[in-house]
Amino acid sequence: MLKYAVIGHPVGHSRSPGMQNAAFSRCGIDAEYLKFEVAPEELPEFLRFAKKHLAGFNLTVPHKQIVLPHIDEIDPEAARIGSVNTVKVLPGGKLAGCSTDGVGFEEAVRYRLGMELSGRSCLLLGCGGAARAVAFRAIGSGAARLVIANRSVGRAEALAAELGGKTGVCALDNRDRLAAALRDADLLIQATSLGLHADDAPPIDPELLGINPRLAVIDLVYLPTKLLRKAAALHLNACDGKEMLLRQGAASFRFWTGVEPPVEAMRSGMEHDRADAPPSEWRRQA
Ligand code: NDP
Repeated sequence: MLKYAVIGHPVGHSRSPGMQNAAFSRCGIDAEYLKFEVAPEELPEFLRFAKKHLAGFNLTVPHKQIVLPHIDEIDPEAARIGSVNTVKVLPGGKLAGCSTDGVGFEEAVRYRLGMELSGRSCLLLGCGGAARAVAFRAIGSGAARLVIANRSVGRAEALAAELGGKTGVCALDNRDRLAAALRDADLLIQATSLGLHADDAPPIDPELLGINPRLAVIDLVYLPTKLLRKAAALHLNACDGKEMLLRQGAASFRFWTGVEPPVEAMRSGMEHDRADAPPSEWRRQA
């Protein structure tokens, strides 16, 4: 039986096992997907283990960036983002890595919001790992304009410089600049980490969403955030981060197996996942 896993620190909350095991089962592939708690200092030991015992794995916080020097063949998009979330163990033990966050984002926008990125004007909140994946994908897919709003403006300026033209930068607390960007935008992308906790303040004043009745909204957080609740009250076209999670998982499955992912089976597997199940002991899988 082939073995796959997601590694993280913490990893307990991950719903990837339910999603990927449903895909393997639906496609008749004899494989099992587990979750492993791996601390950053354990990564080199884990990679030696993975080369011998796994067919592939996903990575979540804090491994997506620190794994880069260990990857033998990096997909160009992942190299640009500076982040890998999917690794395939090649015959002979070499590691091939890619990032499926960007395609997951683009497919979530396509299938949940009914929108293509090409020609669109976007306002992106945040500048971390997820925002970088979104930004490179949006520009790569032909977005007409991308304004990046971040708490640390210097980070937004650095990202805009990497992306080249078609970009603008704004401080997250500059209400007038945000209002102008929202008025011009087709799509608002919330990619800060705010909203994961019920008492988080929203990254921008939700009342600003009322400026533009044509605005579509995607919040990468998996929960109904204050921003999304306001978008729903205004009847805006909006979705949370679950579709992106599903679509990035589907792209990982395709990368490992070459098989077209059974997306609806994966959705059902993700929704029914016992996210509270404890991680498996990876050293015992040897
Ligand atoms: P990072 O830690 O890399 O980035 C965090 C971002 O949030 C930065 O832009 C940071 O700004 C900003 N931020 C954090 N705290 C505050 C604050 N108090 N006020 C204003 N801005 C703040 O996180 P990731 O990019 O990895 O993840 C971001 C979110 O996206 C998370 O909720 C994560 O769960 C979600 N995500 C969802 C995915 C999906 O498939 N749906 C995939 C990946 C991530 P600054 O630069 O100033 O520090």
